[in-house]
Amino acid sequence: MQPGSQRDTNTFPPAPASWTPASWQQHEALQQPHYEDAAELAAATTHLAQLPPLVTSWEVLALKQALAEAQDGQRFLLQGGDCAESFADCSSPIISNRLKVLLQMSLVLVHGLKKPVLRVGRFAGQYAKPRSADMETRDGVSLPSFRGDLVNSPEFTPAARRADPQRLIQAHAHSALTMNFVRALIDGGFADLRHPEYWDLAWVEHSPWAAEYRQMVAAIGDSLQFMETLAGPIAGFSKVDFFTSHEALLLHYEQALTREVPRNPGWFNLSTHFPWIGMRTAALDGAHVEYFRGIRNPVAVKVGPTVTPDQLLPLIDALNPEDEPGRLTLIHRMGNAKIAEALPPLLQAVKREGRRVLWVADPMHGNTESTSNGYKTRRFANISGELDQAFDIHAAAGTRLGGVHLELTGEDVTECTGGARGLVDADLDRAYKSMVDPRLNYEQSLEMAMLIVRKSNG
Ligand code: PEP
Ligand code: MN
Repeated sequence: MQPGSQRDTNTFPPAPASWTPASWQQHEALQQPHYEDAAELAAATTHLAQLPPLVTSWEVLALKQALAEAQDGQRFLLQGGDCAESFADCSSPIISNRLKVLLQMSLVLVHGLKKPVLRVGRFAGQYAKPRSADMETRDGVSLPSFRGDLVNSPEFTPAARRADPQRLIQAHAHSALTMNFVRALIDGGFADLRHPEYWDLAWVEHSPWAAEYRQMVAAIGDSLQFMETLAGPIAGFSKVDFFTSHEALLLHYEQALTREVPRNPGWFNLSTHFPWIGMRTAALDGAHVEYFRGIRNPVAVKVGPTVTPDQLLPLIDALNPEDEPGRLTLIHRMGNAKIAEALPPLLQAVKREGRRVLWVADPMHGNTESTSNGYKTRRFANISGELDQAFDIHAAAGTRLGGVHLELTGEDVTECTGGARGLVDADLDRAYKSMVDPRLNYEQSLEMAMLIVRKSNG
């Protein structure tokens, strides 16, 4: 992660009047767990507030600057990772494989799009999930829904489903362990992807574009070699920047990690570089928007197909009143069937008002469906279809699609169908591991990166 060094001299408006890290508590907070014992919660958040932060204010501001460059078309954002991390998956192979696939995707994108890629992981804090219902009923027994490892545990027992404040501390610790390993891998040259043996490309044979893909990967290798012949080892290819993000859902956790620091004025959420507001908690007068408006991080909001321009513009005013570059990213997640109708009016309204945002496509969350054998899945063709349309719709509107947001893993799971291997519903049984949403596997993720390049180059 980038160790920016200079003191921040930007003039940033002081925290809005009446805002404090706790002022969200005066607003309706959706999707929060019910903690039975207020004293136990207070003890945990007091402890958490004393623990060191996970990121620094200068990293956060360096990311904001890079996002401003993405807004101007000088960079492309690749944001990806698990739907939800779990404490059990805080392990060496899972973390390193996820990092590897994100790095390989970014190399494909850098080469194909001819611009720097800004890498942001959905990790080191992605431990809380919004749920459609507070309670889950099985065989006549009702228990609180599983809300992610930050809150409770997935087993269907009263003890496992109790909202446990100690998990706030455990989530911070697991985030720190993840972050520590990611930083060490990157510092240690893990990102050196010149070696073709790191690339697992057997799937390419099954793609209709096999020849084109092989050429793409060969060309990446060649250009790395060529540049090194001219210039010697290229530091930029063996050492990369990586930033973290998560849905800042559980506001007691976020509040405890909201800090003032000596180096830069204002309040920072130092649990992550880049928090986002989920689709279900983006109400203008809700607690999440209240919390987000006062922090200095770059922030994102998920925008679903029912959002109207009349709702979106006030949200932009609330979250970025000064039109600060890099501050606000809008992640649209419409669904392959709805994007053509839902997206254009929003693009036009934001353009008409001259508001500065980074538009990013999440082609995953509007394309979730259930199979007859009871799995939650997504079809590769719908994911790539939504992304294809997103590029076209932005081009037609004269706006810019500046990045993608994907749920993926470096493992060989079978959670999404389709892709070059042509996975079908019956394959889902083989390696369905997600506790929540279905993710692209290693092969499907690389294929998606190559499809993006194909699309962008016409
Ligand atoms: C998610 O990103 O996992 C999620 C719940 O997305 P959304 O808020 O867009 O539904
Ligand atoms: Mn998800």
